[in-house]
Amino acid sequence: MAVSWDRFQAVFFDLDGVLTDTARIHAVCWKQLFDDYLESRAESRGEAFVPFDLERDYATYVDGKPRIDGTRDFLASRGIHLPEGRVGDPPREESIHGLSIRKDALFLRVLRSEGIEAYPGSKALVARVREQGLRTAVVSSSHNCAEVLEAAGLAGDFEARVDGVVIDEMGLKGKPAPDSFLEAAQRLGVAPERGVVVEDALSGVAAGRAGGFGLVIGVDRTGNAQALREQGADVVVGDLAELLA
Ligand SMILES: [Mg+2]
Repeated sequence: MAVSWDRFQAVFFDLDGVLTDTARIHAVCWKQLFDDYLESRAESRGEAFVPFDLERDYATYVDGKPRIDGTRDFLASRGIHLPEGRVGDPPREESIHGLSIRKDALFLRVLRSEGIEAYPGSKALVARVREQGLRTAVVSSSHNCAEVLEAAGLAGDFEARVDGVVIDEMGLKGKPAPDSFLEAAQRLGVAPERGVVVEDALSGVAAGRAGGFGLVIGVDRTGNAQALREQGADVVVGDLAELLA
């Protein structure tokens, strides 16, 4: 599939699931977190335990969003409304922040024990668009973005990074709001309509669409192509290598 890259000035890449295989790790860690929580909650209330669905619940409520929003939105889908708690809540705390920090600890344990690799097709596409003179930025809800980029050998490939840390510092709205992509466009001095967004999450594709970007490319590694199109993806590919042709 051919994209006319010369129509554009910059490409804004999501991280987890687009550049690195970390969306799968995130999904597994979310499942572990929520299943532990839901199972003990069901047991203490004498209710049936309905586990987190790795595909449907992850794609619908969690993927691409800031961690805290993922925790809140999934629990709300089960009719569970915990107190927000605060940044720095201990993992044991039964609050949105407490559960979220548990999820982060699970992810960091995997990241540091198993390492992370960039998708070869993604690394090749980043190199290709840079050769053609386009600017590149990474736009991620993750607070671990810098560490993941470093571990994947991608740290030098992006001129701008708008991640979970920046989102918190600037008080931006997370995906599906377009704020993080628009901030990256501003940092590169590129108008959104001259920019391409590359996203694997429903929330991320929706953010690119809402930001008025010139092209929104959906990456479907899990059979979500139709839903990605419904959220506003102009094209959907299975791997970024398909865009090298
Ligand atoms: Mg993603």
